[in-house]
Amino acid sequence: MTRKIISLLVLGAALAGQAALAMPVNNSYVQASAGEIRGFLGGYSRPTVYLDQYACGEPQLSAMACGPYTISVGTGFLQQQENSYGNYVAKFILAHEWGHTIQFTRGINRQPPMQELQADCVGGTFAKYAETSLRYPSFIENAVASARDAADYGEHGTPSQRDYYSRYGYANGFSSCMNRI
Ligand SMILES: [Zn+2]
Repeated sequence: MTRKIISLLVLGAALAGQAALAMPVNNSYVQASAGEIRGFLGGYSRPTVYLDQYACGEPQLSAMACGPYTISVGTGFLQQQENSYGNYVAKFILAHEWGHTIQFTRGINRQPPMQELQADCVGGTFAKYAETSLRYPSFIENAVASARDAADYGEHGTPSQRDYYSRYGYANGFSSCMNRI
């Protein structure tokens, strides 16, 4: 009896430890996330998300969109992002790339860094939708931390610009991203 209780305690501790770990980024997680984003932004563009396929002909896998129908991402990159910045950052990154496919679809070509900041804004709109409609725990703070760290003071803007526009989309929604940026 005592032994059974102890092993249950150990199991409980192991499960509690597991809950703190990052989500495993695999094909089902990525495709489920793509489905969620399609449910929100599918009226504007409907790209296919390719995982570990080098679908954009990129030399190194990260996350990119290379036309209205193609998003290419790498498992290693997305997993590292979730490990470093927290759960669901990969969803924000996918939504950012989805924003680029909408830009391709509409022929939007803003001056740097506004093209990228508009995509951040779209990412922010999905973070809000995921929270309010899909009932995910809020991940906008994780997303902003990731975006800030990937700022390059060039094409992607400064950390504070990425922070501002991600939150702008979160607060104001999709049409504001498209009409006011
Ligand atoms: Zn981008």
